[in-house]
Amino acid sequence: MRRSFDELAKMRKAGRVVAEMHEATRHAIRPGVTTRQLNDVAADVLVKRGARSNFLNYHGFPAVICTSPNDMIVHGIPGDYVLEEGDIISVDCGAIIEGYHGDAAYTAGVGEVSALAQRLIDVTERSMWAGIDQLVIGNRLHEVGRAVQYVAEAAGFSVVREYVGHAIGTAMHESPQVPNYWPGTSGPTLKEGMVFAIEPMINEGTYDTYVLEDGWSVMTQDAKLSAHFEHTIAVTDNGPEVFTI
Ligand code: MG
Ligand code: MG
Repeated sequence: MRRSFDELAKMRKAGRVVAEMHEATRHAIRPGVTTRQLNDVAADVLVKRGARSNFLNYHGFPAVICTSPNDMIVHGIPGDYVLEEGDIISVDCGAIIEGYHGDAAYTAGVGEVSALAQRLIDVTERSMWAGIDQLVIGNRLHEVGRAVQYVAEAAGFSVVREYVGHAIGTAMHESPQVPNYWPGTSGPTLKEGMVFAIEPMINEGTYDTYVLEDGWSVMTQDAKLSAHFEHTIAVTDNGPEVFTI
C-alpha cells in the first residue's frame, strides 16, 4: 500500500515518539534495573506525547514494550527480570499517533558485555542498515532479506526464519511480510510511499526457536544469544526515510 503525503506526516510523528522511547529506555538500562522499570519509562513517553500504545493489549500483550534478554529473541514481557552486568537486552517499542503506527527496536549491552555479544549486536545493526539500503523505488522487496542475510551469515551468525518484518501504516502489522532471508522469490516492486518495518533477528547459533509457557517469549533453541534491531522506513524519491530515528 502507498501512503499519501499527509499519512506519511503522521507516521513521521509516530516514529519520533518511538525514537524518544528508545532514547529514554537506553538511558535507563543499567545493572539492577528491572524490565518493568524500562516499560514504565517508555509508558511515560507515550503519555507525555499524547500517543497510544500499539503493543498494549495486542492479542492480549500486557505491556507497551517488549524486553528480550540474552537468548530471548523477541516478544519478552517486561516484569521482575533484573538486568545484570554482561546481559544484552532487546527493547522493542511502538506508538500510534492519529491512527498511524511506528515500530522500532534496538539491542543494548548492560554494562560491559563479552566481545562476542558486542559483535552480535554490531552485526545485527549493520544487517538492518544493509536491508534498509535496499528500500529504493523500483527495487524488489525481498532484496532486503538477501542483504540482511548476507551480512549476518558472512559474520558466522544465523537469521531467524519464523519471525519477520512487515509493512506498517494504520495497523502495526500489514502485508506484505519482509523476511530477513532470501525467500526464493523477488517479491513486489517498491513504490514511493510504501512503508516497512525492517527488523532482523540474528542468532549466535541456530536460527531455530521455541516459545516459553507465557505464550510470548521467543527463545533460541540452543540457548545462545540473539539480537534484534528495527526501524520504520518509508520508500521516497530521496531514498529510504527512517521515521524512528
Ligand atoms: Mg517492533
Ligand atoms: Mg515490527
